[in-house]
Amino acid sequence: MSDLNALADAILAGGEATPADAVAILKTSDAELLDVVAAASRLRRQHFSNTVKVNYLVNLKSGLCPENCNYCSQALGSDAQILKYTWLKTDEALEQAAAGLKGGASRVCMVSSGRGPTDKDIDRFTDMVGEIKGEYPEVEICACLGLLKDGQAERLKDAGVDAYNHNINTAESHHDKIVQTHTYDDRVDTVGKAKGAGLSPCSGLIAGLGETDEQLVEALFALKELDADSIPVNFLMPFDGTPYENTWELSPARCVRILAMARFVCPDKEIRIAGGREMHLRSLQGLALQVANSIFLGDYLTSEGQAAEADLELIRDNGFVVLGAEVDAPVDGEDNSHDPAIRRRGAGTAVAPNA
Ligand code: SF4
Repeated sequence: MSDLNALADAILAGGEATPADAVAILKTSDAELLDVVAAASRLRRQHFSNTVKVNYLVNLKSGLCPENCNYCSQALGSDAQILKYTWLKTDEALEQAAAGLKGGASRVCMVSSGRGPTDKDIDRFTDMVGEIKGEYPEVEICACLGLLKDGQAERLKDAGVDAYNHNINTAESHHDKIVQTHTYDDRVDTVGKAKGAGLSPCSGLIAGLGETDEQLVEALFALKELDADSIPVNFLMPFDGTPYENTWELSPARCVRILAMARFVCPDKEIRIAGGREMHLRSLQGLALQVANSIFLGDYLTSEGQAAEADLELIRDNGFVVLGAEVDAPVDGEDNSHDPAIRRRGAGTAVAPNA
């Protein structure tokens, strides 16, 4: 693709990427990757400067879900050996949230498995929100509780919840292949309910589910249409025991291209590198931050991420700062020095070489 900078210029001047532009970005070669990143990073810098938003996940209720989302380790029929537990108590949720905030997060994403909350679940959730907001008034709270019924979004808003996450996950044209117990329209309806109640809509996707380039682009344009303020881009983590086990469709470079495409389509929206960041981007995590502006700190819902300290180091090493922090987030007990490790293996020793 030859005119990436011209496309970035046009978008900076108020234009928009077309679906054809977006597909062309996904189809660029590895040799063009730095050009893609350079052009997309101009949009990222325009809207988010050198900041990275840090979000922290608290899994309030894990597993035991009656829905059958094929990609999900918590789904009905999943044999993935994940933690399974019912609702955390309020003090436990507060403790988990506090850990994320101490690590530099400005948003806590409070998630429960399940089709959607009962009114009693909303009671319990709003109690938690009251406690957390009482202790940490500045924190943003995003709720992710599944499909909402009429009136529930308003109750969350009244309790001080800031945002609601409900991912569309994939293109409408692909949705029925990845889940059969609810529809794409069900998901869109909940995003609309959240937005209608004044909650900031957070909705994203999962790449690597057998979708085509055109379907990835379809999903991004749907998110643009839904006016999602934040867009988590997940890369499939193929848990053993789920229908997607052993499904590996993504390369690190493709993940960067997907994030860049998202930036071109939704230049001023929070593009969050979500689940699968370490597994799929691997050594390109830093490059990905040049186009995305948000990550999760530490662990995911049912899988472990890299050490939270490594996340903060990733941000700092690539010249970014944590959004909301005056200076780079401190890394406990570390002074940025890394003493050379004296070689004690390979030549001159009886120990196997590092090769
Ligand atoms: S994605 Fe949510 S609704 Fe679907 S199976 Fe997992 S926990 Fe249940």
